[in-house]
Amino acid sequence: MTQTNTLEQLDFAQNNLEKHSVNIHKFGGSSLATPECLERVVSIICRHCQLNDIIVVSANGKTTDLLLSLQQLALSGEPLDTSLALLSEQQTALIYALLNAENAGRLAGEFEQDLNRLVAWLAEDPAVFESDILALGEIWSARLLSALLNERICASYYLDARDFLVIDNPRDCRVDNPVSKANLQNCRRGQKLAVITGFICKDHAGNSCTLGRNGSDYSATIFASLLSAKNVTLWTDVDGIYSADPRVVPSARKLHRLPNAVARELGRLGNPVLHKKTLQPLTGSIGGAASHLHVASSFDVQAAATEIGEFGQIARQELSVTHLNDLLLVTCEALQGDVLADIVAEFSPVYSDQKSGQLVILASQQKALTDALAVLGAQLTVTPVSLIAAVGYQVALRLDIYGRFKRALKNDRVLRFFNSEEQHSIIALLPQETTPELLNKVHHEIVKDARHIGLVVAGLGNIGQRFLELLPGQLSRIPALENVHLVGLVSSKKALIQPDGLEVNSALADFSAQATDYTNGELLDWLKHHPYDEMILVDITPSEAFSRLYGEFFDLGIHVIGANKWAASAGTDIYHELKNKAGKSGSLWLGNTTVGAGLPVNYALDDLLGSGDQITEISGVFSGTLSWLFEHYDAQKPFSVLLKEALAQGITEPDPREDLSGRDVQRKLLILARAAGFELSLEDINCQNLVPESLQELGTEAFLQQAAGLDAYFLQQYQQANEKNACIRYIARFSSQQGKVKAGVSLELLAVEHAFANLTPCDNIFQIKSHWYQDNPLIIRGPGAGRDVTAGGLHSDLVTACRQLVNKQHQVTLKGIN
Ligand code: ADP
Ligand code: ASP
Ligand code: MG
Repeated sequence: MTQTNTLEQLDFAQNNLEKHSVNIHKFGGSSLATPECLERVVSIICRHCQLNDIIVVSANGKTTDLLLSLQQLALSGEPLDTSLALLSEQQTALIYALLNAENAGRLAGEFEQDLNRLVAWLAEDPAVFESDILALGEIWSARLLSALLNERICASYYLDARDFLVIDNPRDCRVDNPVSKANLQNCRRGQKLAVITGFICKDHAGNSCTLGRNGSDYSATIFASLLSAKNVTLWTDVDGIYSADPRVVPSARKLHRLPNAVARELGRLGNPVLHKKTLQPLTGSIGGAASHLHVASSFDVQAAATEIGEFGQIARQELSVTHLNDLLLVTCEALQGDVLADIVAEFSPVYSDQKSGQLVILASQQKALTDALAVLGAQLTVTPVSLIAAVGYQVALRLDIYGRFKRALKNDRVLRFFNSEEQHSIIALLPQETTPELLNKVHHEIVKDARHIGLVVAGLGNIGQRFLELLPGQLSRIPALENVHLVGLVSSKKALIQPDGLEVNSALADFSAQATDYTNGELLDWLKHHPYDEMILVDITPSEAFSRLYGEFFDLGIHVIGANKWAASAGTDIYHELKNKAGKSGSLWLGNTTVGAGLPVNYALDDLLGSGDQITEISGVFSGTLSWLFEHYDAQKPFSVLLKEALAQGITEPDPREDLSGRDVQRKLLILARAAGFELSLEDINCQNLVPESLQELGTEAFLQQAAGLDAYFLQQYQQANEKNACIRYIARFSSQQGKVKAGVSLELLAVEHAFANLTPCDNIFQIKSHWYQDNPLIIRGPGAGRDVTAGGLHSDLVTACRQLVNKQHQVTLKGIN
């Protein structure tokens, strides 16, 4: 079986465990709920794990809830049969659906014995045995997954975390690090993949304890710390941490990168993806290495995960909204001084205030707190409350956000507003439950315009440099660009990519100093995992090879602004494939500057089509170079002399035959005809090459030496025109009459008063006929080349793209929804 091979190929030689970094993969209950879920988990392990990694599991699906409800029923003396039957049915169904007969029989037997123990504990003292009861969920889950891995992939064993993980105190769950570490070393077995129970541990007396609801996240990072693991992945049913619970707030957006401190605050305030202590072991408090934490979806492995770590300014701008119901506001005179300090250390309340003697705790902590305060003989009053909070790096210092938060809550009763100590949250305490409506309202107010857009600029020539010079001003001036971050500069050989954003004012200098060689594969790989809501690539290269990457950009959902003509004028099949790919992934593809530099001809066509118009004709002078040549040519001096003057002034390409061949004009006409909704290819456009065949094959030098060979033709054309009171111009013409399409680019004789005959040298002119503009056509005229106008045209596309992207709705990938 290929799966077996995959993991074993990654196998390490005996005794090599220590040398290789360990990765921790934690699968939450939602990822282990059904046989299908477990199959997915097996394939994730197969693809992403090595033998000395650690798999941490929660109880399957809602097993902990069921065990808890059994304990509650037992405490209140109610019948247990129905819940016991359900538990039994769920577990045996998983076992028999997944394992072979022999293993299924063995596990079912072990489960039967556990069930008997459970029934005994429930009968004897459900309160005393609470942790033993709850621990069963994780035991069953670990045993099953390990057996499944043994059957399918590689040798595996399961470990009951109570065999090694020791905590000092069940209330604050502080780990006895040295003891647990030594125990774990003893428990690990070489050459086998360990599946360890999350959530459970023991105290120094050997009693079972739990780490609190959702505690497997914390288990995962504890193990990471004990083993100095490199990475921790929390595989869950959502592909990251969102700006609010995506099940409740459909417009929530994924937070691609979250600073540690912010993730810690989210956990503390009740975000279920992260148990409140999850971050603690990773940030040194128990001597942990600086592991990376990822939150990924076991249902959609390809989706980019949320990364939690230390990041720069852009990740620090991320905002989210979280809420917590089932809280209690406790008021007690005794909550002062050392008493308060001890209680805070033990219960980590969300809020505490010495002056008023108040605490906010989870409802589930009520009994323990009452017990703790009872020894002091203190009276306490308890009121149900909830909280809603805006969370972000130093958010409490951002007055605009504070203002928006308060505004969103202005019609709701708020007991008080307060900030977390580190200023990473603004919290409102409410005397009523936080409803989905309220959460949506606050989220909308806080997160509405925070979609981060990454920008990569490829091509750092004349136009690219001007584009970058204009960028800082645009970013600070245009609201739609507020969240645009320049993250990459790419030339034909070198690239400088900075996920935290480049300094826009010094980007070019930084590129010169720091850019390194890259391959297209590396560029694509980075783009595959970029941490932005959207990514725009501005292609200012003249490179056909670079344009061949567009398909892959579109597959990745990347938006392209191209000044590069190659893709837009590619063969019909390629062009359609690109359009389809872009359409499928919602990528924008703008190319205003492929024709006429900054002149808004593409926009005009788009606008006419959008208004229900139909284009019947497009014509004009599309080449600044040819425009200059024919506006100046008056037969006073030979055409070849004029041509060399133009070359010397940089008006022509280094080899002027590229202009004279008409191919550039032909491509531009194709691009416009396509933009006008017609399907045609380059071959459908007749192209008159102004270079005679005898001069076509020469090298550039030789051509320039023999350029006088051009003169007779132009002189003759000029004289012929002159006789008819006409002039010569190189014209592009496309028309569609009754379904018949005609297209060509050639030298034409035009009446001297013709609109195309009176241009400022270098200008382009575009004449559009349509149903709306029939007898009196629409004309767009102006410079069709140049540094400023082209860079300006690219900025115009950038603003257009960003305005569209700011309003784009994101698809949230949630189990069972998509
Ligand atoms: P697991 O079973 O993997 O431990 P949990 O159910 O504990 O997963 O946590 C995942 C759930 O957390 C998601 O299904 C989602 O509904 C909820 N959730 C709440 N807030 C957020 C948020 N801000 N981002 C992502 N998920 C959230
Ligand atoms: N099974 C436990 C719970 O449901 C722990 C966890 O899932 O992380 O809370
Ligand atoms: Mg969880």
